[in-house]
Amino acid sequence: RKFVYDFSEGNKDLKDLLGGKGANLAEMTNLGLPVPPGFTITTEACKAYLESGEAPAALRDQVSEHLAALEARMGKKLGQADDPLLVSVRSGAKFSMPGMMDTVLNIGLSDESVHGLAAQSGDERFAWDSYRRLIQMFGDTVLGIDGERFSETLDEAKSARGAKTDVDLKADDLKELVGKFKSIVSEETGREFPQDPREQMDLAVRAVFDSWNGSRARLYRRQERIPHDLGTAVNICSMVFGNLGPDSGTGVAFTRDPASGQQGVYGDYLQNAQGEDVVAGIRNTVPLADLEQLDKASYDQLMQIMETLENHYRDLCDIEFTIERGKLWMLQTRVGKRTAAAAFRIATQLVDQGLIDEAEALQRVNGTQLAQLMFPRFDSNGGVKDADQIGWGIAASPGAAVGKAVFDSYTAIKWSRSGEKVILIRRETNPDDLDGMLAAEGILTSRGGKTSHAAVVARGMGKTCVCGAEELEVDTKRRCLKTQDGRVIEEGDVVSIDGSSGKVYAGEVPVVPSPVVEYFEGRMHAGADDADELVKAVHRIMAYADRVRRLRVRANADNAEDAARARRFGAQGIGLCRTEHMFLGERRELVERLILADTENEREQALGALLPLQKGDFVELFESMDGLPVTVRLLDPPLHEFLPDITELSVRVALAESRKDANENDLRLLQAVHRLHEQNPMLGLRGVRLGLVIPGLFTMQIRAIAEASAERKAAGGDPRAEIMIPLVGTVQELELVREEAEQVIAEIEREHNVDLGLTLGTMIELPRAALTAGQIAECADFFSFGTNDLTQTVWAFSRDDVEASFFTAYLEKGIFGVSPFETIDKDGVGSLVRSAAEAGRATRPDLKLGVCGEHGGDPESVHFFHDVGLDYVSCSPFRIPVARLEAGRAAA
Ligand code: ADP
Ligand code: MG
Ligand code: MG
Repeated sequence: RKFVYDFSEGNKDLKDLLGGKGANLAEMTNLGLPVPPGFTITTEACKAYLESGEAPAALRDQVSEHLAALEARMGKKLGQADDPLLVSVRSGAKFSMPGMMDTVLNIGLSDESVHGLAAQSGDERFAWDSYRRLIQMFGDTVLGIDGERFSETLDEAKSARGAKTDVDLKADDLKELVGKFKSIVSEETGREFPQDPREQMDLAVRAVFDSWNGSRARLYRRQERIPHDLGTAVNICSMVFGNLGPDSGTGVAFTRDPASGQQGVYGDYLQNAQGEDVVAGIRNTVPLADLEQLDKASYDQLMQIMETLENHYRDLCDIEFTIERGKLWMLQTRVGKRTAAAAFRIATQLVDQGLIDEAEALQRVNGTQLAQLMFPRFDSNGGVKDADQIGWGIAASPGAAVGKAVFDSYTAIKWSRSGEKVILIRRETNPDDLDGMLAAEGILTSRGGKTSHAAVVARGMGKTCVCGAEELEVDTKRRCLKTQDGRVIEEGDVVSIDGSSGKVYAGEVPVVPSPVVEYFEGRMHAGADDADELVKAVHRIMAYADRVRRLRVRANADNAEDAARARRFGAQGIGLCRTEHMFLGERRELVERLILADTENEREQALGALLPLQKGDFVELFESMDGLPVTVRLLDPPLHEFLPDITELSVRVALAESRKDANENDLRLLQAVHRLHEQNPMLGLRGVRLGLVIPGLFTMQIRAIAEASAERKAAGGDPRAEIMIPLVGTVQELELVREEAEQVIAEIEREHNVDLGLTLGTMIELPRAALTAGQIAECADFFSFGTNDLTQTVWAFSRDDVEASFFTAYLEKGIFGVSPFETIDKDGVGSLVRSAAEAGRATRPDLKLGVCGEHGGDPESVHFFHDVGLDYVSCSPFRIPVARLEAGRAAA
């Protein structure tokens, strides 16, 4: 097997085999760009090593061959005493991964060859600087010595010499430092720093392989759902030196601004330095544009290469380069990360440049980015610039939140009830903080990462959250927040947190609405000359998406106002109108009467009073969605939700009884509350079960829908109601409801002499319904997958409980990459959706299929629903643009 590829043998499409870095080094080599020669050891070799614990014999031979070829080409041997060839050993998996081994530079230096390097370069300082770097990196990453030991020793040397930075250390200082570093190695490992260059190289390669199975790398892969069997490649690259004096240096560059997408010169450059110094921030870099003054020829060449790379990759690239005594070398490139706004702008710019087509542009953006752009944000003109940043954490849940600092849930609730906006600040949150989190504008914690309790729960609630702001100290006893430089934020002081950048500010930072939302709302026009560039880009991308998508997008909306907004955002109907809110407020009393009714007469009176109210709601809703389908779900939640709280009522009755003036109605109410009380209401008397047990309830709702439709028709409208029955488990339930519904509808159609075109379908939200979908379809005009309840019932998870109790642990252990309530569990819940869709269509080929529930607005889930062949997804109004975009991406 071929385990080793020269850089000239690979290309960018071989990422599986050569890793991202190796594949792109090969691509650049073949483009004729100046890449230092080298070769890549494949992921296959890594896999073979990890399986057997031994590098395959063929690997050693092939490495020897390629090394010999490299040596011949460079005219010197690895570690050769009088003129050493030096190499870097660089890890590079298909996906870049924290926890993987870092790069080791200057492999091949030894006590002997360091003199050769000094003689050849004529720069003794450089040679010793390179050697101390080798021992430091090798000691840390290959031998596993705590890096602090080296950096502390380096710092001591600097302060002993009064040196500000490492550049101020002289050759002799560095020579001394090498001696100290070598002692650290022998102290810590019990053996000398290896002097044989090939041994150095082989140990480094092995360390890269081993790091694939390091615990941090494994955890990261579990969380990101990256398979464990990919393995990593290793790149051996001949060294070029940026630390050879002022005409040398190293830098990073972007072909356009990764923040805005604007074309121009973006990057940083550091004179007289080796690669890792730029990111390590040990000395101040200069803007890349300054390179033009420092070294015009290299600068011009770099600009040219950046253009070549952009045209070749047809995308923004980021680049690592080094200049050795006026000669430019390319050390890495890849398609670069970018902000959400830049992603949209770059995609449309590239279309205009003719580099990509519209379908490709759709693949360059995603719904998560669009969702980010829709949050309100801190005003970047002035507001944020002048803001007083006090800390920085992990951007855990997007948005911009401003409020008074509070340090416990109780205060959060109390203050928010009295109308204050609060930010809940905790070291970390736990299930006891739930109500406080709900009451707060945003949540800030000093501990924990993206999967911490605070992060998971805040995302579920849609609350802004910054977590793990470690430099801020939360003192819950004294109720204050201490910054690193000793400032104190007391309870009640205003703070602002940015859940999109992770930044934390003292005081109030002005918040501005998202221009993208202003555009969707119709308050900003993409056509205007002065329109925001981002809005123009979003407008174009949305148009592409709408043109190609097959899935239709509907909204979950219960009132005319939400429906109207949904329509502005592009909804093509309502996929879920919940009717339960129509029973709350003042209408509660009527519901109580219905529940307490002893006689048919009483019940009919209560229903009769509810009917016109329901009908009125529907008339408004059908009007705002005129011409578009509106799926109305009949009453779903358990009845006791409409009755008073059992404890409160018991106390009231007991007190009244002790005063001997108990009121008849309260007593009956209490009885009813007891009767309806359920240990587990989620699995109790709700949905269709209610409809079948309380005579007349569903009939009243169906009558309201039919009469509202008739009224709209009479007014010249085009109502398109669809009646949806919740929580059906068996076709018999649906048959009973349908029989009654058809009678009522026929009656109203006769009365008004119209055809109302009403359809009747069911939610598929119980495993039994999914498993018997073929039977249920006999009696249903449509299915709407209720994936929230289906997830709850398939997993036996109560969403209200488990997200806050053990999901953090599950996410940390990598059992899920993401909550199954956020992204559909394709293998479990998803496979039921798929088989139920197939079975339903087998019975009734024209069965309309949709999904309502949070998953309808989740990017990954939308792709799944497209693949399964559903007709539409339905989601909350704000997610509609996201769903439209992802439906377009799925189809393009
Ligand atoms: P990372 O993936 O962390 O960027 P790299 O392998 O790219 O790791 O290397 C770390 C730093 O060392 C980079 O700045 C890179 O440019 C530099 N570097 C790597 N190989 C060489 C080399 N052969 N010559 C000079 N600098 C190098
Ligand atoms: Mg790099
Ligand atoms: Mg449900």
